[in-house]
Amino acid sequence: MDKMIKKQNELLEEFKGYVKEIYLNPELGNAEYKTSKLLSNVLVKYGFNTKCPNLLKTDFLGIYESKKEGPKLAYLCEYDALPEVGHGCGHNLIGVTSILAAIMLKEVIDEIGGSIYVFGCPAEENFGGKVELAKLNAFKCCDVAMMLHPSSKYAVGSRTQALIPVRYTFHGKSAHGCHPEDGASALDGVISTYNGISMLRQFIKPGCFIHGVITNGGKAANVIPDLAVIDYYFRAPDIKYANYIKEKADNIAKGAALMYGLTFDEEIYECIYEDKKINYTLAKELKKIFKEMNIEAEDVNEIAAGSSDVGAVSYQIPTIEGNMKICDKNICGHSKEFAAATISDMGTLALKNGSLALAKLGYNLICNKELLAEVKDEFEKNN
Ligand SMILES: [Zn+2]
Repeated sequence: MDKMIKKQNELLEEFKGYVKEIYLNPELGNAEYKTSKLLSNVLVKYGFNTKCPNLLKTDFLGIYESKKEGPKLAYLCEYDALPEVGHGCGHNLIGVTSILAAIMLKEVIDEIGGSIYVFGCPAEENFGGKVELAKLNAFKCCDVAMMLHPSSKYAVGSRTQALIPVRYTFHGKSAHGCHPEDGASALDGVISTYNGISMLRQFIKPGCFIHGVITNGGKAANVIPDLAVIDYYFRAPDIKYANYIKEKADNIAKGAALMYGLTFDEEIYECIYEDKKINYTLAKELKKIFKEMNIEAEDVNEIAAGSSDVGAVSYQIPTIEGNMKICDKNICGHSKEFAAATISDMGTLALKNGSLALAKLGYNLICNKELLAEVKDEFEKNN
């Protein structure tokens, strides 16, 4: 343990510099060319066997295998930014914190055994890089995945919602506005779908969200529109129920098409996100580690709000996404102020505390065989 802390003391200033460098040069999802290179070069510098890109355009994977048998632990990095607000979700800090933790654990892993995998996961905000990596079974070689997300508090996890993004495109027949009998309005199909789905809302379980926008409703008032488009997000506490809502909505669209003599196509226009499976054994261990560091971390937040591509990882291997505090509660996520907090004193403290907690969690998972067995047992029971 002392070796890990000594390494951290040596590296903290340097890593604080990386957080700032990425903050000053934000790159959007799937365009993180410079950032993925920067982070993977850090892994190369500290002795990881690294490939960048690995399976996607802007991902990377750094591996360090000790000579002794042991578990394979994954540290997840995010590093994509948002339009307008740069690193308003603080992903610059996630990437650097996970890498620092991995390097700290590497200091002792030759003695205790096991391997470290550092996954560079792009495009969390929009294209679900982890979903793409999970489809390629990238995480399945590992026993456990870990990461910490910046927040206004320390916490050991929160549920997220499954999300299915569906686009309904209605096709009708154009006609002059004064000869509507010759046409069929695609817009009517969209409006009836919208109204039908609004009524459906009352008959689904609490904790679900349905939000939609009409992205094409026709072009001119005196032309019966032959094309109209509506985009939806169907969110639910789990993927099964999100699918249930989608099936209901599909029937409404079918009914609308039938009513007005239209046809429609349906498309998944963005990435499907699974809900995040909570591993309570990991959460309990992380809470204990924070407590040893004199940090009171909040328990798992059971109320799912929002969606994350970490869910895809949590369906493949036991996963924990905790939180590290970089600001007070009055600062909102996805804002310029939140981005600035990543390079504040509190942000640097989060880098220090967060990397230590993640390195310790890795250490405990390797050294405490019963702990790892319990983590895996819980995962098996939940899947
Ligand atoms: Zn985020």
